[in-house]
Amino acid sequence: MNNRRYQTLTNRIRTAGLAAVLIATLALSGCDPLTAQTKVPTNPVAQQPNQTESPTQEPQKDPQQTEQPGQTDPTPPQEPSKATAGAPGSISVLVNKQLGLPDDFQPSNLVDDPDLHFLSGGGGEKRLMRGEVANALKQMFAASEKEGIYLSVASAYRSHATQTQLFNYYVSTQGETEARRYSAVPGHSEHETGLAVDVSGRDGACAVEDCFADTKEAKWIAKNAVKFGFIIRYPKGKEAVTGYAYEPWHLRYVGQDLAAAITAKNVTMEEYFNVK
Ligand SMILES: [Zn+2]
Repeated sequence: MNNRRYQTLTNRIRTAGLAAVLIATLALSGCDPLTAQTKVPTNPVAQQPNQTESPTQEPQKDPQQTEQPGQTDPTPPQEPSKATAGAPGSISVLVNKQLGLPDDFQPSNLVDDPDLHFLSGGGGEKRLMRGEVANALKQMFAASEKEGIYLSVASAYRSHATQTQLFNYYVSTQGETEARRYSAVPGHSEHETGLAVDVSGRDGACAVEDCFADTKEAKWIAKNAVKFGFIIRYPKGKEAVTGYAYEPWHLRYVGQDLAAAITAKNVTMEEYFNVK
């Protein structure tokens, strides 16, 4: 997010009052399955991230609210399509701002794997992910540890109900136009697939923040995640294609074959499937 955009958002949040701050924080946290019951600080923008608190309480880090570069006055978003590039339950399903999941979609085989390290000790749906994702992630974590890199899961699954709750609340407080600009429309968050995982270093430094890109953990992930079936879903320089800012922590499981093919072409899922 550029500075001007960030300042605008900051000013909006600071003047919107506690209720708006609460929901903005929740709705804007596209990478974090916070619930509406979660207590958040009244000034999350000024909060310093640390290991013990959810790393995505900073609303400016949310991909769902990020506008495409250069768009200082974006047009209202189009009505999202319910079409998908693959079956909703497929590991190759494409979910983005245009392509969404059916309202009644629920991923199968969600697991809370006790052998995976999570950044925060609490429970909840953000610990869930599809079984094949958990297995691949465990293999990746084990491989990284052999090289002295210790990874953790910041958050994974986010239910359609949670996303709907957050989006509707945001609509009720800010209006639908604003809600669509700044939050994920239900069905359009990749975390709803059970195939997306936000990964951090085990110390939580820069978790789900831009500065994560400069960590040794991020560099290891960028080089090695493909071997385990993951891609960096929102790559640097592809903001205009994905609609999201660079997120070195947001991994999407697509399986080893597809991950290798996408990585070899150095493209996004949208470009690989020729779908936007
Ligand atoms: Zn994410």
